[in-house]
Amino acid sequence: MSKSPAAPPPPPTGGGYLLQPAGSTPFRTPEQADETQRALYRTASRFAVERVAAASDRIERKEPGLLRALLREAGGLGLLGTESPESCGGLGLDTVSNLLVTEAMAVSGSWSVTWGVHSGVGTLPLAWFGTEAQQQRWLPGMARGDLVAAYALSEAGSGSDALSARTRAVLTPDGRHWILDGSKQWITNAAFADLFVVFAKVDQQLFSAFLVEKGTPGFEVGAEEHKMGLRGSSTCPLTFDGVRIPADHLLGEVGKGHRIAFNVLNVGRLKLAGGCVAGARNLLPLAVGYAQERRAFGQAIAQFGLIREKLARMVALVYVGEAMTHRTAGAIDARAAASGATRGTPAHAAALVSAAEELASECSILKFWCSEALSQVADEALQIHGGYGFVEEYAVERIYRDTRVNRIFEGTNEVNRMLVPGTLLRRAMKGQFPWMEVAVAATRAVTRAELPHFAPGPLAQERRLAELAKLAATYAMQAAVEALGPAIAERQEVLGALADALAEAYALDSAVGRALQGEGWPPPVAEACVRLYAVESHERALAAARRAVRCAVPEPAACRALLGNLRVLADEDPIDLTALRERIVEAALAAGGYPLGGAT
Ligand SMILES: Cc1cc2nc3c(=O)[nH]c(=O)nc-3n(C[C@H](O)[C@H](O)[C@H](O)COP(=O)(O)OP(=O)(O)OC[C@H]3O[C@@H](n4cnc5c(N)ncnc54)[C@H](O)[C@@H]3O)c2cc1C
Repeated sequence: MSKSPAAPPPPPTGGGYLLQPAGSTPFRTPEQADETQRALYRTASRFAVERVAAASDRIERKEPGLLRALLREAGGLGLLGTESPESCGGLGLDTVSNLLVTEAMAVSGSWSVTWGVHSGVGTLPLAWFGTEAQQQRWLPGMARGDLVAAYALSEAGSGSDALSARTRAVLTPDGRHWILDGSKQWITNAAFADLFVVFAKVDQQLFSAFLVEKGTPGFEVGAEEHKMGLRGSSTCPLTFDGVRIPADHLLGEVGKGHRIAFNVLNVGRLKLAGGCVAGARNLLPLAVGYAQERRAFGQAIAQFGLIREKLARMVALVYVGEAMTHRTAGAIDARAAASGATRGTPAHAAALVSAAEELASECSILKFWCSEALSQVADEALQIHGGYGFVEEYAVERIYRDTRVNRIFEGTNEVNRMLVPGTLLRRAMKGQFPWMEVAVAATRAVTRAELPHFAPGPLAQERRLAELAKLAATYAMQAAVEALGPAIAERQEVLGALADALAEAYALDSAVGRALQGEGWPPPVAEACVRLYAVESHERALAAARRAVRCAVPEPAACRALLGNLRVLADEDPIDLTALRERIVEAALAAGGYPLGGAT
């Protein structure tokens, strides 16, 4: 009797990292990039280095026409239509491939945001929610770079609170046109964009999306903002004064604009995170090079322990960030593939939307964790440069300024922190995530000190630390839920602390899982990165869990009991951090930057 083929593994679920022991379930890693994806990365990277990075100073001076010309060149290489279906001149790439192109583009903040808005949040609303006619009309030009897109959600009075937008749309009595009135603020690409995805409320209440073309009477683009960073990119306000657009410029359905705005942002957050990780990776050659060159007290500053510690941490953060972003992108692809829909069809677009919704909590983790990792790496890279880091001649000065905004746009890091536990709990209420199972297991493990053990083997201690971090996060979350009930939704300091603990759990679980996959793994430098990260990550997770409990449970006896229980999750195992640091730093110095290959 012939054996029936093994059933494919179920696709990853949102919050799945809390359900499986660290290192037990394979997931997508950067090392799994296939030859086509690596070739795509090389093409994008060559263009980014040779055409964009080489023109960086001219971009920062806002040389007229330069960004449009570069976009057109990128279009010629297929790098603008990566999210568009092939039937509309795009490449219809999977999420991992899109992430790789995003990483390649991170050679200049100004370029990265220009390209990212055009080919990401500017294109996805049409690619996912546009009618066939709308897609055929605009997407081919956008994929070529003949048309540039912008995404207009924020207003002067509503950024985070996007649904309180005041821009309004009214259908004319004959049903043939929409009339738009209002204004938008901070719109990337505004000065030279041709097509604007504009969110407005129909009859002042039904949040909806519209497509507005440049030059439509009554539609004005205001003056450029003078920004701290991303100075080469365009950021302007928009005004709409009785702007009349055809009825078929409505995107999706009336009243369903939030589905477009927020689903596009889920993927936007993942891609922003990928750009941040690549940005951090690109800072390493600058930091390592300068540390080797600069001498103080008769030696290269790269010889000093505190500089070496910074470099090692920077490398480890990149390794962990790559693990988390590729895992999440792979999970979205796996879920879309499991739908059975053919790529490029509306059914596939719907599957991608639903996959991104499923992974929304992870996308929010990525947004704040990766943007803060980049801030940390940029800050340390500048510090390694000493006074020279503070002057414009050194690239690190601009990069430091450019990184700051990543913590503000695509949902501020505060908003994303609230979404992390908020989304998990909301899904639990709908029966989409087995929270009670997780909570009962955490309570049992912590109160009885029945803690996970792994048989001796590669990264056994780090697998344990990852599990302890998860227990800290979930035990604290259950304590907060019990203490506060539905009011937890209003207790931001509790949600923020829980988000920090959950993010460490996801980061560590992803780092361990990445390092353990593949033949003969983990390689020594990757292993050192995971071990170095694990010690600090576990401590941060535990501290965040304690913070959540202190905020959620003010009654002293109850709080003391919970904190006492959490103490069993502390770890006292010795670990030689200096030896780990040395293994990483020696590799980084030898490589002149990031010493691990991944997908690149
Ligand atoms: C360079 C740049 C480019 C941009 N490009 C675009 C673009 O192309 N399209 C677009 O639509 N927008 C764009 N934005 C806007 C960006 O998305 C918003 O700035 C962002 O969403 C924050 O909104 P806000 O500035 O109004 O701040 P606010 O929402 O007023 O927030 C101010 C502070 O309050 C906090 N806060 C707000 N609400 C809460 C809450 N409920 N709980 C706790 N804290 C809260 C925030 O975290 C923040 O710290 C861009 C912004 C910049 C700076």
